[in-house]
Amino acid sequence: MRVYKFGGASVRDAAGIRNVGSIIQREANNDLIVVVSAMGKTTNALEEIVVSYMAGRADEALLRWQNVVIMHELIIAEFEFPSDLLAPIRATFAAVASKLAAPLPGEAPVSYDAVYDQIVPIGEVISTQIVAAYLTHIGLPVRWADARQLVRTDDTFREGKVDWATTQSLIQEFMGDQIGLIVTQGFIGGTADAETTTLGREGSDYSAAIFGYSLGAESITIWKDVPGVLNADPRYFDETVLLPALTYQDATELAYYGATVIHPKTIKPLQNKGIPLYVKSFVKPDQPGTLVGAVAVEKPTPSFIFKVNQLLISLHPTDFSFIAEDNLSLVFGLFATAGVKINLMQLTALSFSVVVDSKPDRIPDLLDRLRTHFRVTYNEDLELVTIRHYDQTTIDRVLVGKKLLLEQKSRSTVQLVVRDNQ
Ligand code: ADP
Ligand code: ASP
Ligand code: MG
Repeated sequence: MRVYKFGGASVRDAAGIRNVGSIIQREANNDLIVVVSAMGKTTNALEEIVVSYMAGRADEALLRWQNVVIMHELIIAEFEFPSDLLAPIRATFAAVASKLAAPLPGEAPVSYDAVYDQIVPIGEVISTQIVAAYLTHIGLPVRWADARQLVRTDDTFREGKVDWATTQSLIQEFMGDQIGLIVTQGFIGGTADAETTTLGREGSDYSAAIFGYSLGAESITIWKDVPGVLNADPRYFDETVLLPALTYQDATELAYYGATVIHPKTIKPLQNKGIPLYVKSFVKPDQPGTLVGAVAVEKPTPSFIFKVNQLLISLHPTDFSFIAEDNLSLVFGLFATAGVKINLMQLTALSFSVVVDSKPDRIPDLLDRLRTHFRVTYNEDLELVTIRHYDQTTIDRVLVGKKLLLEQKSRSTVQLVVRDNQ
């Protein structure tokens, strides 16, 4: 049994869905679990609907929702599905519209993240309904599985923590002895109280690993718009090379430092059960791509990871106290409460600097809280460049036209915080 995961880019239009169908068809005689994300940029559109809805702008939310419906209807129209295949999709559209039309309940404080997890998962529900309808339409017998009932999480909305034992038995029970072809959603799960949760943005890779782990899959393949894992993101780097094989450790570190091709949580469950992960191109499915697993990599290729839109925050105690001894647990507590992850940190006697993603929904509040304890300075619009298996030539290459604000080196990795030289 294998797990295939298809992300938003692979199913963004009817041609994409046909292509996904042809990749699945090659596995027609094998058990296959297909994990699918929301189509194209649907998740972003749904996030905007949450913003409108939470601001009490129900009309705007409904209007935005209509645009999401139209986008999906245009895709469906190309397939000319019979009415029995259209019915569940249209039922989902109607259910969402009536939910959005209902006002927020009274004066009771409603958690933004809980509402988010009621609205944003719809993208995955619809995409899997459409993909399942398409596969049925081309004659592949398929079962649609509801990940909200199979991937059990706690109620940390927008970042659900997986209950592995329960998830494993729920998935095994649903699949039974004859798995066949299954289509299910990435990114979403549910609590014991049947509330929907999400696993964090871009979490569908992780979902594929959850299904693979729970069933002891032979392998997982995540199908991408790139030939595999490259030594840099081709959006930021011209001359990239394919990394044909990576150890679990290398893949974990690349993802941790921000190589967005694999979601950081994906590797651990696979490593724990020794399940190989293939990263392959949905455009050229016959190419070998990248194998992540128990492989020996003799001479690692230097890899570059760019994180843009970074903020360097420096904290200075106002009373000249040593920051490490007196303040660090307070600082970490404030970052954790604000839900802001630290990408890099540096300590001096009288200051503590951190680099974080510049998230407008979380940072201003965090800065206010920090200011009640420290003098706070910060630099915006920075890039954090991480080079794995670096040498001086690779560092020099990255620093062309940049000003270096902070540098941190270990034996295998260097991190550079830079800004453009105006
Ligand atoms: P999905 O469709 O599964 O959501 P993503 O868009 O999240 O796929 O991931 C694929 C993208 O990851 C590529 O288009 C590429 O821009 C980016 N990427 C970042 N780092 C790398 C890397 N090291 N190798 C390949 N792609 C990378
Ligand atoms: N659709 C979700 C997102 O865009 C999950 C995913 O694509 O992995 O974040
Ligand atoms: Mg993605």
